[in-house]
Amino acid sequence: MIQLDNISRRFRADEVETTALADIDLTVEAGEFLAVMGPSGCGKSTLLNIIGTIDRPTGGIYRFEGKDITKAPEPQLARLRRDRLGFVFQSFNLIDELTIRENVALGLAYRAMGTSEKRDRVTAAMDRVGIAHRKNHHPHQLSGGQQQRAAIARAIVGDPKLILADEPTGNLDTENGAQVMNILTELNAEGATIVMVTHSPAHADIAKRTVHMLDGRILTSARRAA
Ligand code: ADP
Ligand code: MG
Repeated sequence: MIQLDNISRRFRADEVETTALADIDLTVEAGEFLAVMGPSGCGKSTLLNIIGTIDRPTGGIYRFEGKDITKAPEPQLARLRRDRLGFVFQSFNLIDELTIRENVALGLAYRAMGTSEKRDRVTAAMDRVGIAHRKNHHPHQLSGGQQQRAAIARAIVGDPKLILADEPTGNLDTENGAQVMNILTELNAEGATIVMVTHSPAHADIAKRTVHMLDGRILTSARRAA
């Protein structure tokens, strides 16, 4: 599904150049559940953003489902994100002016689909993560765990093939973190490919494979024994 060849990402700010990623070679097969670990600042989010096409590499080649998309025009990448990807972030990123139902419906924005199909999908996604009873509330009225489950509903309402999760349990207590991991594990069992950044060794263990990063490079890649 994902093939990164010799990917690098350099940032230039105030005359200072930072190499966030260097010489990254990484292949992710369809159906994998990959955890990415490593100290703060080592490039995990940059890697996830490049995989999610919300950032572009400064060097190397990115192939998605066999197609070189390194220099694909932005509208093509926007379609790819809309139709194939779901994003989950540490800080939930819900819009507080909207209800939970309206937030989840954002995951279907610009999809060619009738109103009633959209409504059914939004309802199903909320049921799926157990927040349907909160659909008319606003994000600040929900617990952190409920907010993250709403964010997951928004990410999965469009039935993405690839879910990118950047420290999805980073702001949650043990119990709510475990709930989020259960949902991700189920989604993976149903066929979604997942790439998840985490600081939790226990949550990385739930994934099928872990890569460890340091200073913009992948150090090791370990597959969990079946
Ligand atoms: P992690 O997610 O592992 O904590 P990041 O991918 O966020 O690490 O950052 C990797 C490095 O790239 C850090 O040194 C960070 O300061 C730098 N960096 C990330 N994004 C930017 C940006 N937009 N502009 C400049 N430097 C950045
Ligand atoms: Mg990060």
